Amino acid sequence: MTLSPKTPGIAAGRLGAEVLAENFGDLHPPLERHEAHVAADRCYFCHDAPCMTACPTSIDIPLFIRQIATDTPEAAARTILQQNILGGMCARVCPTETLCEEVCVRETAEGKPVEIGRLQRYATDTLMAKNDHPFTRAAPTGKRVAVVGAGPAGLSAAHRLAMKGHDVVLFDARPKPGGLNEFGIASYKAPDNFAQAEVDWLLQIGGITVETGQKLGAGLTLEGLTAEYDAVFLGIGLAGVNALRCEGEDREGVEDAVDFIATLRQSDDLSTLPVGRDVVVIGGGMTAVDAAVQSKLLGAENVTIAYRRDREAMGASDFEKDLAASKGVRLLTDVRPVAVHGNGKAVEIELEYTKTEDGALVGTGETFRLKADQVFKAIGQTLEGAPEGLEITRGKITVSGPGRTTLPGVWAGGDCALGGEDLTVTAVAEGRDAAEDIHATLMG
Ligand SMILES: Cc1cc2nc3c(=O)[nH]c(=O)nc-3n(C[C@H](O)[C@H](O)[C@H](O)COP(=O)(O)OP(=O)(O)OC[C@H]3O[C@@H](n4cnc5c(N)ncnc54)[C@H](O)[C@@H]3O)c2cc1C
Ligand code: SF4
Repeated sequence: MTLSPKTPGIAAGRLGAEVLAENFGDLHPPLERHEAHVAADRCYFCHDAPCMTACPTSIDIPLFIRQIATDTPEAAARTILQQNILGGMCARVCPTETLCEEVCVRETAEGKPVEIGRLQRYATDTLMAKNDHPFTRAAPTGKRVAVVGAGPAGLSAAHRLAMKGHDVVLFDARPKPGGLNEFGIASYKAPDNFAQAEVDWLLQIGGITVETGQKLGAGLTLEGLTAEYDAVFLGIGLAGVNALRCEGEDREGVEDAVDFIATLRQSDDLSTLPVGRDVVVIGGGMTAVDAAVQSKLLGAENVTIAYRRDREAMGASDFEKDLAASKGVRLLTDVRPVAVHGNGKAVEIELEYTKTEDGALVGTGETFRLKADQVFKAIGQTLEGAPEGLEITRGKITVSGPGRTTLPGVWAGGDCALGGEDLTVTAVAEGRDAAEDIHATLMG
């Protein structure tokens, strides 16, 4: 039987290999040299540049753009990477429209910012294509630091610590390093195995031993690590997923969006990946949009995002929302799930309209049903496996200053730690700053 988007149920191979390859190709193709020069020439090289202040890693944006304009992209890459060692990934995944590009003076004056993200990619890609690693290690300090979690926060911390001359062991529960760069970010933002290529490039600094399949809480203990190492950095992200808490949540076809995305990211043949005909994604953040868009690109016929508040309140940026709309994803706002119906398998989802009453979100009692053979839960990730003894505030590890936890010798950063937005670039900044503080503490 030839499958199509209209084939009922959850099925693989709804689209042919060629269409899939096109659908999952690079979202923003890289700039050619000439295009990069034209884009760089639009920069005013502002004094007190607002773009630089808006960047969580404080990259000297006017300087690197000037270096591109003077045809020294490798120097530009160095400017970027000394602040943000994952500048290549951030160039691909940063919501620049709400960070540097939002405040660019050419955006405020003309509604068209300098393409900072694409220029950053041009510079970092040029350097990485030469397999050049522009940093070297300081003389060995004899200190050993354990970094738990090899996502953006852990990788950034590990690199900075190794550069300072410390020996780092980087533990991760998964079989591969990279964190959500490898298992979460939408495929079309970082195609061609970029996440692993970047990790390999980063490790060229030396002094970092990667230990995969090592889980804190199952084998590794914080007590053991603090006894064995001079300092510990935790960058364990948010490994848990919130439950829908609605009737029928256990029906076949109801899945975690992050698990679906991780499977998709690890698949080397997308035509073997099953997806529903009528997909409903519950949530309003980046994960919800990514699950919805990628379901559509895999060939689902109808994909709906159902969000409990209005469009403005959604966690996803305007760019992401527009991307979803452009791919044919339908957005339903002010609704919440009350039940998933079906006989064992999901067939329909029942949604209830919501309204705000005295500041609280409540159901109106009016419900309706949508066809849904696959339902993705994307209503937020939670901290899982934080070691005992650490203070937790609002579901995150309490930290003060540059990632200091309430336990001496233990730092934390990235999504698992309190404060900051849950973004790749924020995790990189927090890992870097904690590493600087660890270094100052160890050498003080
Ligand atoms: C689907 C999705 C799409 C996203 N898209 C974007 C985007 O486009 N742009 C953007 O800026 N941000 C995006 N984000 C957010 C971004 O990915 C995160 O903010 C960022 O990855 C956080 O980095 P981290 O290092 O703190 O955590 P993670 O990337 O989650 O890495 C944590 C690491 O710790 C490991 N770990 C967890 N528990 C343990 C344990 N007990 N023991 C050992 N290891 C453990 C994990 O295996 C993982 O490798 C997205 C997130 C998701 C879920
Ligand atoms: S704000 Fe815009 S024009 Fe000014 S330095 Fe930054 S990128 Fe260039």
